[in-house]
Amino acid sequence: MLFDSLLGLFSLDMGIDLGTCNTLVCVRGQGIVLNEPSVVAVRKGTNHVLRDGNAVGLMAKEMLGKTPGSISAIRPLKDGVIADFDITEAMLAYFIRKVHGRRRFINPRVVISVPTGITAVEKRAVLNSAERACARKVYLLQEPMAAGIGAGLPIAEPTASMIVDIGGGTTEVAIMSLGDISVSESIRVAGDDMDEAIINHMKRTYNLLIGEQTAERIKIEIGSAAPLSEEKTMEVRGRDMISGLPRKTVVSSEEIREALKEPIGQIVDVVTRTLERCEPELAADLVENGVWLAGGGALLRGIDHIMSSATGLDARLVEDPLTCVARGTAVYLEHLNDWKLSLESDEEEY
Ligand code: ADP
Ligand code: MG
Repeated sequence: MLFDSLLGLFSLDMGIDLGTCNTLVCVRGQGIVLNEPSVVAVRKGTNHVLRDGNAVGLMAKEMLGKTPGSISAIRPLKDGVIADFDITEAMLAYFIRKVHGRRRFINPRVVISVPTGITAVEKRAVLNSAERACARKVYLLQEPMAAGIGAGLPIAEPTASMIVDIGGGTTEVAIMSLGDISVSESIRVAGDDMDEAIINHMKRTYNLLIGEQTAERIKIEIGSAAPLSEEKTMEVRGRDMISGLPRKTVVSSEEIREALKEPIGQIVDVVTRTLERCEPELAADLVENGVWLAGGGALLRGIDHIMSSATGLDARLVEDPLTCVARGTAVYLEHLNDWKLSLESDEEEY
């Protein structure tokens, strides 16, 4: 252990948030050193990652616009499960090498946060991929734990901490205490589904086809879960479904809120469901400690308000919800010897 810590001084140990939308890498003392979309460019119709060096992350997204037709973008973790192992491995290897570089003699230790819902086979695949990408040792940390650590919650203490992490593909809800997850639920309803609800609304109400990026922009600019003190409007462009021609229209925050009701309702339901399964002693703690919202979806206006009224608990956003998990993985690296929360690459049972 001491030897391992000494080696740590000479290698660039890193914490990775392998998200369905974004992958972040955090290094002790340096903060977030990489923040890129979890996107891989492949030759259309195949699973072959482009042999280009630029086929992953931001570059993959940029390249796409320039070479339409032959290349398509894949989000290998889109629904919180690994859709394609090879593509996920290529992506992870690219990010680890990009951060670590080739200049150091000693390979890094890597902590990777993974969704609570992933299977044993998927965990093994993530561990193996990171090892093949030159990690000396790999630790898998459950995402809500990482979020709790990143938010500075007392997750190792005998009191309940509750995290709701609303990402792109999945929402993870967990109640933790004494360094363990007491109850958790994961659903495949999150930010992507809000975008989809907006796309459907535009189709149904305006016969206007819009893309995913536009839908996400609408959500970020005027989207909300609860009434706004000042309602907003936004001009939206797309393709008319009847004439086939480009057209624009104006949408209001009220109608977008209505469109978002369904996915938000499902997220609220999973939170109340988790609370119902919680031990009474822990439930009692939550009256005091409240619920903490993390992930990009927590930034939707008024979602804290909706959560508070649905649960009767105090719901607050963690600081910088988008980087909370990644920061948590890096903090965990510093406490590997004191906290034993993760799964390690040399353990047998997965
Ligand atoms: P993941 O961990 O699954 O990669 P993130 O925590 O990075 O996901 O969150 C990505 C999601 O958050 C996306 O669906 C994105 O549209 C959404 N998001 C980001 N910023 C905002 C915002 N200001 N308002 C609403 N949603 C947002
Ligand atoms: Mg996440």
